[in-house]
Amino acid sequence: MSMQDVIERIEERYPHQPEFIQAVKEVASTIDVVYDRDPRFAKHKVFERLTEPDRIISFRINWEDDEGNIQINRGWRVQFSNALGPYKGGIRFHPTVNESILKFLGFEQIFKNALTGLPMGGAKGGSDFNPEGKSDSEIRRFCYAFMRELYRYIGQDMDVPAGDIGVSGREVSYMFAMYKNLTNEYTGVLTGKGVGFGGSLCRSEATGYGAVYFLQNMLKAHNDTMEGKTVLVSGAGNVAVHAAEKAIALGAKVITLSDSKGTLYDEFGFDQEKLDWVKEQKANRQPLFEYHRKFGGSGVWLPGQKPWQFDGDIAIPCATQNEVTAADAKAMYDHGIRYVVEGANMPLDAGAIDFVRENKMRYAPGKAANAGGVAVSGLEMSQNSVRQYRTFDDVDKQLQIIMKNIHDDAAQASEEYGFNKDGCIDYMSGANIAGYKRVANALV
Ligand code: GLU
Repeated sequence: MSMQDVIERIEERYPHQPEFIQAVKEVASTIDVVYDRDPRFAKHKVFERLTEPDRIISFRINWEDDEGNIQINRGWRVQFSNALGPYKGGIRFHPTVNESILKFLGFEQIFKNALTGLPMGGAKGGSDFNPEGKSDSEIRRFCYAFMRELYRYIGQDMDVPAGDIGVSGREVSYMFAMYKNLTNEYTGVLTGKGVGFGGSLCRSEATGYGAVYFLQNMLKAHNDTMEGKTVLVSGAGNVAVHAAEKAIALGAKVITLSDSKGTLYDEFGFDQEKLDWVKEQKANRQPLFEYHRKFGGSGVWLPGQKPWQFDGDIAIPCATQNEVTAADAKAMYDHGIRYVVEGANMPLDAGAIDFVRENKMRYAPGKAANAGGVAVSGLEMSQNSVRQYRTFDDVDKQLQIIMKNIHDDAAQASEEYGFNKDGCIDYMSGANIAGYKRVANALV
């Protein structure tokens, strides 16, 4: 079956899964060359196998709200591939969660995890539960109820979930507590746990820091540096604030953050105090528009707007999938942006990807650039297995090495397969090929 046949079959079978089809097409568009060079992959139907999850577990979650009413949500775990190690990937709580979104995320996770070089398969899970507007007790009860259903399908050597949108250290820790209760086991079955009880130092920083480490390598490969660059960041969650924090530490000026309600613009740039305030507001589920009241002069809140309307050099979209359209990519270009680094999973839609590539913007795909989170999750798993903690610096150093390796592997694959053009490295093709080869070699 040719790659095109595989795509057509997926489109026929899953016509209502646009995000999943989008992710498969993106990978397929770049790995033809591997098919051509290594016929074993086609013979063993590797791509066909990798586009069909090993299994999808779907369950009902009953939980009780603060008024004593029973609420019902749907939960899923998509165990996509364990070719390289135990299933591994986050859990997302968001009203948009459905099978298409989780399959796209799980599919991406296979290659992302492969790129880290650590022994981890790919998975994703979540629920259409909306944490917004819920009390702390409701969130705790929901996490307990979610784990009461999920616990029988996971295990430290079988499937190791973590956080994602709507699931931070607090939620992971609630789920971990319920897992321990139900199984009477204390293992590294979840990552992103609280640091006092098995979580790794530097895990919450890892995705954002990792994206900037990838960017640093990317700049270096194009004889450039972070120093003095103006950066636009979208999102205000864990990935966004830590990407901003690291970019600032390396000498850049970060002038935007955003959330689903609008954009926060600070023409003088954020500093640590301002970022700490944003973290605090978000942790307490408080709005960002009060920034101006707190810090005066420089801050402007732009309700309902995206951050791509300001002049800058680098964009790091860290909010959610398909947040950047072709029109947004053009706005970035018109405002001077030449580097686009995906902190979120698939934040550029297909039109935006075409635009950045056609216009020779330097583009780092999420499966490479945001792999730092799951990489440190892998380090958390190994710390749990030997029951020891590593220091923050130790984990951070290891993260820098992993991000450099991912960069170099993607760059090398792009070069080897002839994708570099006009001094521009094609990280999208390179990351897809490097990740795919690693998984494919385990399947033939
Ligand atoms: N949700 C994160 C991601 O998209 C982290 C997954 C993990 O640590 O397992 O990669």
